[in-house]
Amino acid sequence: MPDEMSRPLIRERGEGGGSRRLEAPTYECGAPVIGILGTGDFSRSLAKRLVASGFHVVVGSRNPKRSAALFPEEAEVTSQLEAATQAQLVFIAVFPEHHSTLVALKPALAGKTLVDVSNSLQINQAGPSNAERLADLFPESDVVKGFNTISAWTLQMGPRDGCRQVFLCSNSQKAKSSVVELCHRMGFIPVDVGLLSSSLDVENLPLHLFPPWRVPVICTLSLFIFFYLYNFLRDVLHPFVTSGKSAFYKMPVETVNVTLPSVSLVMLALVYLPGLCAAFLQLCWGTKYRRFPERLDRWLTRRKQFGLCSFFCAVLHAIYSLCLPMRKSARFQLMNAAFKQVKAGVEDSWVDEEVWRMELYLSVGIMALGLLSLLAVASLPSVANTINWREFSFIQSTLGYCALLMATLHTLLFGWDRAFDPSQYRFLLPPTFLLVLILPLAVLLGRLALFLPCVAGRLKQIRRGWEKSRHIRFVLPDEDSHNGLDDVSNVP
Ligand code: NAP
Repeated sequence: MPDEMSRPLIRERGEGGGSRRLEAPTYECGAPVIGILGTGDFSRSLAKRLVASGFHVVVGSRNPKRSAALFPEEAEVTSQLEAATQAQLVFIAVFPEHHSTLVALKPALAGKTLVDVSNSLQINQAGPSNAERLADLFPESDVVKGFNTISAWTLQMGPRDGCRQVFLCSNSQKAKSSVVELCHRMGFIPVDVGLLSSSLDVENLPLHLFPPWRVPVICTLSLFIFFYLYNFLRDVLHPFVTSGKSAFYKMPVETVNVTLPSVSLVMLALVYLPGLCAAFLQLCWGTKYRRFPERLDRWLTRRKQFGLCSFFCAVLHAIYSLCLPMRKSARFQLMNAAFKQVKAGVEDSWVDEEVWRMELYLSVGIMALGLLSLLAVASLPSVANTINWREFSFIQSTLGYCALLMATLHTLLFGWDRAFDPSQYRFLLPPTFLLVLILPLAVLLGRLALFLPCVAGRLKQIRRGWEKSRHIRFVLPDEDSHNGLDDVSNVP
């Protein structure tokens, strides 16, 4: 493996003894000459890919002699001016801060297509983009932004692995079309994102760090810390403070295991809460054409991530639960309980109520996890693309609410009658499951309220375009004949 890692991306000229010809050793007659300015990692990988796709490649370097050995022998490595003169389409594979050093090539590049592959070091929010600056430097050339989201490694792998989409934008349709064709021949999927004004977004694309996940992950971590500390206070610190009993051994497994389902259930409730808020706002406003508050809008678009975080915690809870009997502490506790029973002369420890509670608790827990797994699978783009909107909303909404109901039942069965036991209120804190249940129960009750025929009917009307404000109130001339009541008419 270390040998594999230390191997250069492209073998040098003459290396390896035999012929180094690629599968498509000669370029096609009539194929455009593709130029690349710069001889760095990106340039080398691009040259290899272009040569393998049957193009004649001319690479322009400030020092061609030094760089030639790094390129496939089918590629011609020459001076920057020579490459710019020969090629019809030129990739600018130098860092944007060095674009200005290429201005001497302006006459040679006039009327040609320049592909700007550059990325910035930081997300550029204000603009102008690197591509726009390049277009200002070379006003007589047609600049196309693209390939910046493709790494040198992906270029080497070609269509076999890595990201295959190439986002392209340009003010020249002709130049963009030529790059689109080039992408197809290289085995990539071109995605037209419009004019060069979109280039700032394209340049920012590789710099994002999971933007839709930020809030859900922060939410998950915050809930985890809150519930962990809450459980620690009740289950670990309380026995230590009140009776000097050390239960610190519970911290790595038991406390984590009671924290995870709490986080999972609250996160699942948070998946369905924004939808309910949106429905109640629409009912309140009497229209669907008013914009939701920005935070609600963003929350609605992050529901998938909230759901996946909930699923992640549920899976961890299942694994932790399966491992509980493996712990030494569990074995000692079991043996101690058995000895105590023998000592007390108790022969049968079977408690019917406990047995039923546990059977039901496990069964609904497994069902909840099964339904959550289905939701997670259906949220994968490859699966979601194969089902229609009705099927998708049946899985995500109907089955999602079923999962929430099952998970809530699972928690209720876990709590059983402990909410009425005063000894459970340690440090005057209610049992964790009571806190956890507030939000899911509120969501389920909210959903039930939306099922009421009068509410459901009005919501359906609103979602089909009906608006309260488009009612016209009119009073008939003879008010007395209508007992003072207004007639209300809906303008279609
Ligand atoms: P690199 O290895 O540093 O290569 C840059 C090349 O620019 C040098 O080899 C140099 O070649 C040439 N160059 C021309 N004028 C220069 C000057 N005045 N000062 C310094 N170098 C000059 O960089 P790279 O990784 O190939 O990246 C090149 C461009 O591709 C960047 O804009 C980068 O954002 C973009 N990109 C790279 C990747 C990647 O995976 N590496 C992915 C996407 C986009 P000569 O000395 O032969 O002239």
